Amino acid sequence: MKKGIHPNYKKCTVTCQSCGATFESGSIKDSIKVDTCSNCHPFYTGRQRFAAAAGRIEKFNKKYGIK
Ligand SMILES: [Zn+2]
Repeated sequence: MKKGIHPNYKKCTVTCQSCGATFESGSIKDSIKVDTCSNCHPFYTGRQRFAAAAGRIEKFNKKYGIK
């Protein structure tokens, strides 16, 4: 490898800010923070995580008289 042109690729810890899960990956940074990960993303868990979203729909339905 040519010297001086490659970033220092190393192991880093990825921290999920939604569920707190951590796992190792490779990066030039020491740590990475992510909003969602394979541990808590609805695609993998198979369920909705955002309870507030349901409340909003209910509010909307109530406002317009939809049952
Ligand atoms: Zn997560």
